[in-house]
Amino acid sequence: MKGTRPRVGLPAGFAGLDPPAVWPRPRSASKPERLAAGVETLHGVGPTLARRLARIGVLTVGDLLWQPPRRYEEPVPSRRVCDLFGEDEAMIEVVVRSASSRRRGRLRILTARVADDTGEIKATWFNQPWLEGKIAPGTHLRLRGRANRYGFAVSSYDLEGDGATTDYAPVYPASEDLAQKRLRDLHVQAVALARDAGEPLPASVLAGERRPLRADALAAVHGPRELAEAEAGRARLAFDELLVLRLALARTAAERERAAAVPLGRPGELVARYRTSLPFVLTPDQKRSIDEIDVDLERSIPMQRLLQGEVGSGKTVVALYALLRAVEAGRQGALMAPTETLAEQHFLTIDELSAPLGVRLVLLTSSLRAREHAAARQLIASGDAQIVVGTHALIQKEVDFADLAVAVVDEQHRFGVGQRTALVEGRSPHVLHLTATPIPRTLALTVYGDLEVSELTLPPANRKPVVTAWVTEERSSEAYSRLRRHLDVGRQAYVVCPLIEETETKVARAAEAEAERLRSAELRGYRVGCLHGRLRPAERRSVMASFKAGELDVLVATTVIEVGVDVPNATIMIVQEADRFGLAQLHQLRGRVGRGEEQSYCLLVSRSKEELTEGASERLEAMVATTDGFELAERDLEIRGEGQLLGARQSGYSDLHFVRLRRDQRLLQRARDVAAGLDDEGLLADDVDRLLGEAEHLGES
Ligand code: ADP
Ligand code: MG
Repeated sequence: MKGTRPRVGLPAGFAGLDPPAVWPRPRSASKPERLAAGVETLHGVGPTLARRLARIGVLTVGDLLWQPPRRYEEPVPSRRVCDLFGEDEAMIEVVVRSASSRRRGRLRILTARVADDTGEIKATWFNQPWLEGKIAPGTHLRLRGRANRYGFAVSSYDLEGDGATTDYAPVYPASEDLAQKRLRDLHVQAVALARDAGEPLPASVLAGERRPLRADALAAVHGPRELAEAEAGRARLAFDELLVLRLALARTAAERERAAAVPLGRPGELVARYRTSLPFVLTPDQKRSIDEIDVDLERSIPMQRLLQGEVGSGKTVVALYALLRAVEAGRQGALMAPTETLAEQHFLTIDELSAPLGVRLVLLTSSLRAREHAAARQLIASGDAQIVVGTHALIQKEVDFADLAVAVVDEQHRFGVGQRTALVEGRSPHVLHLTATPIPRTLALTVYGDLEVSELTLPPANRKPVVTAWVTEERSSEAYSRLRRHLDVGRQAYVVCPLIEETETKVARAAEAEAERLRSAELRGYRVGCLHGRLRPAERRSVMASFKAGELDVLVATTVIEVGVDVPNATIMIVQEADRFGLAQLHQLRGRVGRGEEQSYCLLVSRSKEELTEGASERLEAMVATTDGFELAERDLEIRGEGQLLGARQSGYSDLHFVRLRRDQRLLQRARDVAAGLDDEGLLADDVDRLLGEAEHLGES
């Protein structure tokens, strides 16, 4: 006997597979304000919960609708308590006889003696304090979980007939302070408003493509009766996303076609000097990429090339080459980086390499003082600045390039489509995108339009893969003694502080405090510096410069070191509370070591496994298992879904939440065809605008 999940907002006869008797007319969101409203408008959401939701990117009611489940509960058999055996998952229906709770370290354990007519068993929950009052003697419960030798380990439970234990109940990306049950409850409330999301597609398209209505698709995804229903819903929503993306790309491509770039001719004397001035030989991959870029730059079609290569594979050297091609043609080059730290790093690196060549370089970030900012803009507008390095400050309206010929967009997956195009809007430079997140080619084409791809597959020199270990907090002192052994032979190290705090300022303060603590504890006697996002640029530069010069042994840092920081003598990294980081982020962090010829190590410290969420353990296991960015990206897709791979941190309707590109090739083809056949963007126009308009809402992360 299984619980039936209350179905919300589903029309009679919905299967997602049968067309409705009457197709409704396309309509825009009828009451967009209810979906656009903050999550606090939902029942039971206060400021604390709202903050926790914000941390996983859920700000509005609509964000919940557009948050796909990670997976669905497998169907499991119902058993009587006397029939429980083995480790297989099962469902039992029981009454509570007694309950008690205790603590073990930071772990809170609730146990209850529960029984049915056939016997009694001890059920166990971890870290769910709010349950304690509710599991009283006499309470009826439906439990899903596994019997083991200690009793019954509960994976989900149905307390008030909410259907949580039902087969195919959705499983959302919960975090330790955001219970699955809470998330499900919120999704049920959001799905009740699914009709407000409107129906942007004409009936002819829906019928032709055999797709369910949008509202039905949303209901099916968040509460399927069977997996086929969930899949039909997902595919419909993915179809919308691909359609919006294709329309956005078509719009930008049309703009690009109207613009012609100035051909830069053949490479000249400046880049020849640059190549001979490098302190190393270019790898064959770097040479090939440079040749490919040269071919692009000879044409009047603006270059659109993606330079893809692992962290540390030497993309910057190639990027600078492209920028210098602009300079030697008497024009300008610009490099846009996603964070201030990265922009500053690039500035330092590029300055070191290009100053001897007599190239004038300018840094433009939003943390410059008004006067400096104006002065930098003046140099950019007059053409005195030959290469400009900056953050998104580069794409603000008041920045006026004299003659931009080559633009490099670094770690472009961090920028939305809108931001990437804003740099080139109204101008038609040649563009080189850099990425360390390997993207399957089909995905690249979909997301970036028809661009060419160059790859750096072999790292420079004979670098060894970083050895990665996962240790629990109780053993973190061993991690630090290992780190000290590296310092004692003259190497340097990073300690990465956790992300727990809510604001950049608090994160910064926590990092300072941790650096102070380490100075008098594990790292006493060593020179410890601290790097975080609240330092003034000059301070940050000086900390980085001292670390680079070997005047500091250890850099205690927040994720500001995630990208760009390049100190080959740093051979070991400890990441505290590593379970709090995303996989792509961990991979980027790890890329800070292993940059020289020495064997490097990355030690991931976390709480014990039973205290971690499913996703967190999977991420850490993946990090230990491989250093291959491509494999990690694939794992990340499996663990988190496609949207996050693209760095879509800000959740908007139009990001790829439901698309599974490896599976959706046919769907992608259909979306291309349908997009090409639509006269205008119709009711999707707002979504297209939103996708392209992200630049305006951009904040530094
Ligand atoms: P990425 O941007 O791809 O992460 P970088 O361009 O920062 O990598 O390069 C990483 C390090 O490798 C830098 O210290 C750079 O000077 C060095 N490097 C780049 N190309 C070569 C090469 N061909 N041989 C040796 N070292 C190189
Ligand atoms: Mg780089």
